[in-house]
Amino acid sequence: MAASFSFTQIPTVSPLHQNPKKTDKTHEKSPRNTDSEDHVTHLLYNFKAPFELKQVHSHIIKNNLSPTILPLNKVGHICSLSTPVSLSNNFDYARKIFESVDKPEIIIWNSILKDLATGDNPREAILLFTKLRFHDILPDTFGCSFVLKACSLLLSLYTGKIIHGFVLKSGFGPDIFVQNTLIHMYACCGVMGASNQIFHKMDQRDVITYNTMITHNFKIGDYVAGRHLFDEMGERNVTSWTAMIAGYTQLGKPEEAINMFHEMEKAKVRPNEVTVVSVLSACADMGALDLGRKLHLYIKRRGFCSNIRVCNTLIDMYVKCGCLDKAREVFYEMQKRTVVSWSTMIMGLAVHGHGLEAFKLFDKMKEENVRPNRVTFVGILHACSHMGLVEEGLRLFDSMVRDHGLEAEIEHYGCMVDLFSRSGLLKEAREFIDTMPIEPSGAIWGALLGGCRVHKNVEMGEEVIKHLLELEPQNDGYYVVLSNIYAAADRWEDAARVRRLMKERGIRKTPGCSSIVVDGIVHEFLAGDGSHPQAKEIYERWEQLAQELKLEGYVPDTSLVLLDMEEEEKEHSLYRHSEKLAVVFGLMNAPPGKPIRIMKNLRVCRDCHVALKLVSRVSGRQIVLRDRNRFHCFMDGECSCRDYW
Ligand code: ZN
Ligand code: ZN
Repeated sequence: MAASFSFTQIPTVSPLHQNPKKTDKTHEKSPRNTDSEDHVTHLLYNFKAPFELKQVHSHIIKNNLSPTILPLNKVGHICSLSTPVSLSNNFDYARKIFESVDKPEIIIWNSILKDLATGDNPREAILLFTKLRFHDILPDTFGCSFVLKACSLLLSLYTGKIIHGFVLKSGFGPDIFVQNTLIHMYACCGVMGASNQIFHKMDQRDVITYNTMITHNFKIGDYVAGRHLFDEMGERNVTSWTAMIAGYTQLGKPEEAINMFHEMEKAKVRPNEVTVVSVLSACADMGALDLGRKLHLYIKRRGFCSNIRVCNTLIDMYVKCGCLDKAREVFYEMQKRTVVSWSTMIMGLAVHGHGLEAFKLFDKMKEENVRPNRVTFVGILHACSHMGLVEEGLRLFDSMVRDHGLEAEIEHYGCMVDLFSRSGLLKEAREFIDTMPIEPSGAIWGALLGGCRVHKNVEMGEEVIKHLLELEPQNDGYYVVLSNIYAAADRWEDAARVRRLMKERGIRKTPGCSSIVVDGIVHEFLAGDGSHPQAKEIYERWEQLAQELKLEGYVPDTSLVLLDMEEEEKEHSLYRHSEKLAVVFGLMNAPPGKPIRIMKNLRVCRDCHVALKLVSRVSGRQIVLRDRNRFHCFMDGECSCRDYW
């Protein structure tokens, strides 16, 4: 025990603070004595106020125990931040205890600052920092860094600047650790200019400096600067690679993210859980199922399966790549699930057309007392839409607001408009839009437009298009839909007028592009494409297939072809649609028995939809098509979208 241990003069328990019942107990003789000891042992780790600490402390002294058994961080925390009357006394009391243990005081305060800055209440770190200054304790570089971290979390630029001033006055300016936290603090508070300034003035930079700069440059969308920093830095660690990959994914550049990941593999850096989550998100966006599967194996190997976030992203990836079975597998194997896991799975089931199963899962989720959130409701409303459950959808929409206190957002309104439109209740859908408290978006009008097309309501279609073109005048897709609506109603002159309008406005139809992955290689097909090495065989095979389909009742829907050409020519133009080429390529090259997975940049057209349903029947293959709006899962002549998209 340290020689300076002289606590006997400190009053043990102030009578003011004493709990009378407990005092009675301490005066009693055994066997109650054990009770009192239990009480002290309990207090040793659970004291919540200085007077309780003093009880423990007097016990330590009486029994000649070492003060090192006291949890020092807690001592400092309770004595400096709890608010009984004599604050300073308590602070000094803590310092006396610190003196009695063989440890520099500043190290203990730093450790407390660190706990507070990274805990639930970073405000307390700032408070403690001011207390230290008040008691003339000079924080060191570590203390400054921790309190700067607290400022970053609180986005407190004002306090951050004060600490920065203190840092400079104290001569800590050149310390790399402090500089790194300053860069982070300014960037978090949205003052990237100040971060850049510090960065450029630094004599020495380490991997943390670069990682921080990269992350924040991506956050403000400057991926060029981010890449430049990455190329410039000497030593890179897994965090540097992850910052790049996550940055690209968040900016909607999944291809770059995946390329970066391949570079990382080449550099033989082992991905961690955060890396895996980012790459999986990129795979989901790209439909890169092969890489997603590889990552799944890696996750199992590294034991990341217990990480809920990893599993949630894995489910999302499988859903978006059209592998519902694998998504289910991951979901059911999870030991613990959050509302995100449930919502992702429900949403996945709904978009793949498994409305009933989505409902079952929704009930199970409630049974397990998981509170649905706004994403859950998007999923379940989607399911209603698929199943044409208008009443149920309305009930859930109301219950979301009334029973769950969730505000209806644009996605929920979109689901409702979709639900009405699908069911042919176009008037109701239109009225619903009028009652919305928020401005309808393109997606809302788009949902109604789908209804107008399917239920052949030309007048409303025209009105809806007006709104859509106001919102997105350059979106060629809307012109195409409108012209198709006219064509389907045999209003050829109007269809021609829309085409002229497109020309006048300089809008060109985005060429359809479909891709399929075979043996890890992405094959892309443009509409009318003849550039693929197997193009000749593909066209020949399609001609054969088309004959088989015609026997099954396929009639090419030439009304969809905008150009004025002969009927036979129109048929051929339809035959060159990119998704047909990709499917035929898949039939020729993908391993037998496996589903054929296609991604398309535009909505699937009606003719291809009919054709692919029949292809799935005559070939006995499952075809999963992910178009711009949704999934179509073709099997045995049916599609999961129930012919509505
Ligand atoms: Zn087509
Ligand atoms: Zn479909």
